[in-house]
Amino acid sequence: MKSGSRAGSRMPRWMLRSVECGPELRQVEGLLEREGLNTVCVGAKCPNRGECYSAGTATFMILGARCTRDCAFCAVPTGGVEPPEPGEPEAVARAASGMGLKHVVVTSVTRDDLPDGGAEHFARTVRAVRARLPGAMVEVLVPDFAGRAADVEVVLAARPDVFNHNVETVERLYETVSPQADYARSLAVLEQAAAAGMPAKSGFMVGLGETSLEVEELMRDLHGAGCSLLTVGQYLRPAERNVPVERYWEPSEFGQLEVKARALGFEAVAAAPLVRSSYFAHKLLEEREAR
Ligand code: SF4
Repeated sequence: MKSGSRAGSRMPRWMLRSVECGPELRQVEGLLEREGLNTVCVGAKCPNRGECYSAGTATFMILGARCTRDCAFCAVPTGGVEPPEPGEPEAVARAASGMGLKHVVVTSVTRDDLPDGGAEHFARTVRAVRARLPGAMVEVLVPDFAGRAADVEVVLAARPDVFNHNVETVERLYETVSPQADYARSLAVLEQAAAAGMPAKSGFMVGLGETSLEVEELMRDLHGAGCSLLTVGQYLRPAERNVPVERYWEPSEFGQLEVKARALGFEAVAAAPLVRSSYFAHKLLEEREAR
């Protein structure tokens, strides 16, 4: 019998966390609203956002708030996408500088409708942030660009400090959890970034029905693809339409995963129930660079 707390039961106490809704948080969210910007932090109602903002990290979501894919774990609505906002890269840079960020994460929905999947828009955003905040770290958390190496190259050419692409779950669950994604394709995207000398990072969730052996296999594949930074967190069901939580992993199991990941050679790892892809992103990079 696997440990952890079965889904269907109430969320275990270790998953409960209140958001400190101080003046700083309201000020930041006011600024984002004025600039008409989406952030994963607000969009996903991330419980860590108070902590991240005060640590000088935030995650901007470019290319709209609607996706061309329909992953079963994701809260983002599908279809009805709009053309990219030409002024968005500059608006992100303005907001990032207004927030005095030290580590800026830029992510997006997947835009299979765009010829380059939004790669040029990503590159322009990295450059705009660099121009306004030369001292800040810029991390991109990108979609798979349908595996087109030329589009990945466009983003790499903008020289972000970290290239992040989430594999999200183990290979066996792709068919049900991320039907439009492809496991080997995602590994190839990460491999391309690592081969270009870029710190490559990935992340996945547990609690979707994966076994510990499959998780070890996944970590081995990621490290084999050249990833040196890793995040692992507990899947939480955003809405009834999304796939249910199969199981809540215990905090101690995340601790064991971290030990295994480091033993495999990952240089920086964040593994805990409330960890998200860009949670304490600056700390992971600092940890890697301190080695
Ligand atoms: S591709 Fe990304 S944004 Fe789109 S549905 Fe999947 S997880 Fe959500």
